[in-house]
Amino acid sequence: MSSGCRDCGTCTKPGLARMIQTWAVGFMHLCTAGISWVVKRGTMRHCPQCKHLLGGHQRRVDGSFVD
Ligand SMILES: [Zn+2]
Ligand SMILES: [Zn+2]
Repeated sequence: MSSGCRDCGTCTKPGLARMIQTWAVGFMHLCTAGISWVVKRGTMRHCPQCKHLLGGHQRRVDGSFVD
């Protein structure tokens, strides 16, 4: 399976830190009964490849790399 962008701040994190973040985000969504998930989904841009926030990527909104 392909996962991770080399320019993604979350994907380039060490496995454990990533696991903790994924767990923390999931817990947050659970606490808000999915409301935070909907808000995040509807208002923020996500990477089509790894589904992380595009804000954490070193690339432009159109998907092209900055470098
Ligand atoms: Zn990512
Ligand atoms: Zn990505």
